[in-house]
Amino acid sequence: MTTLLFTHDSSLRHVTPEGHPERVDRIRAVNQILGSEHFRELTRRAAPAAREEDILRAHVPEHLRRVKAIAPAEGFEFLDADTAMSPGTLEAALHAVGAATAGVDAVFSGEADNVFCALRPPGHHAESRRAMGFCFFNQAAIAAHYARAAHGAERVAVIDFDVHHGNGTQEIFWSDPDLFYGSTHQMPLYPGTGSVHETGAGNIFNAPLRAGDGSAQFRAAMATRVLPALDAFAPDLIVVSAGFDAHHRDPLGSLQLTEEDFAWITLQIMEAAEIHCGGRIVSVLEGGYDLQGLAASVGIHVQALMRGNADQLDDTDDSVAYEDDD
Ligand SMILES: [Zn+2]
Repeated sequence: MTTLLFTHDSSLRHVTPEGHPERVDRIRAVNQILGSEHFRELTRRAAPAAREEDILRAHVPEHLRRVKAIAPAEGFEFLDADTAMSPGTLEAALHAVGAATAGVDAVFSGEADNVFCALRPPGHHAESRRAMGFCFFNQAAIAAHYARAAHGAERVAVIDFDVHHGNGTQEIFWSDPDLFYGSTHQMPLYPGTGSVHETGAGNIFNAPLRAGDGSAQFRAAMATRVLPALDAFAPDLIVVSAGFDAHHRDPLGSLQLTEEDFAWITLQIMEAAEIHCGGRIVSVLEGGYDLQGLAASVGIHVQALMRGNADQLDDTDDSVAYEDDD
């Protein structure tokens, strides 16, 4: 299996206000684990910046204009109460999108079997016409549209296991039966969307979980609702909104998932990709705010992508020690 890893230094220059959970240290934690011996065989690439035409397949021109216009020369500008731009934010957001579209190129050209994009800011809350919830542009939705425009994909699925519902991806996909959105998430929780009754054009599959739910409920929701629908949809590409804030350590959610659950869902998605689309998966980092939980979860997710199996990385807990006081 050839797994390609996209990163970009601009992810370290998207600064957020003091105490904000979506912080630079997240990428340091991810870089540290993916820089360890276990990941020697990863092919690594710097993400290009997004092309505006690619962003505009998922967002209205006014949204792109607004984000560019608000970008501050110093300090912060807020797009909503918890979505702030610093001087480095626009560049980071553009590279986060560029990683996802370059990832699509890589899996369709055969350069890689699958791709992980370890960049920030996240994207799944960004709607066609607004930034929200730490997100500016919706990488997963843009990648899905790009696969159709640039590589002739007919049907693209996004699987989202972030603890929050990807309202942006759902909104962008809402009336397009050739785009699939399947999500597990905690409800009630921000952003408030994600009920089973939100079905779009029959292409939206929400499987909400309750605070306190863990491995058994998560796996059952995926296995009975999301994965069978994915199978019936028969995608030409699977994009993963890989948020790791459903981890039991995470401060923003109350689900109780472990790294093994992230390994399990990764392997399930890989099996579906193998059956339907030659294994093509582009996985994009979304949330995950406990640095130790994030690093361990990203580690096992990428290990699964690389090997088609995954074991606990035995040195994770010892080698990754973080200060949470950023
Ligand atoms: Zn989240």
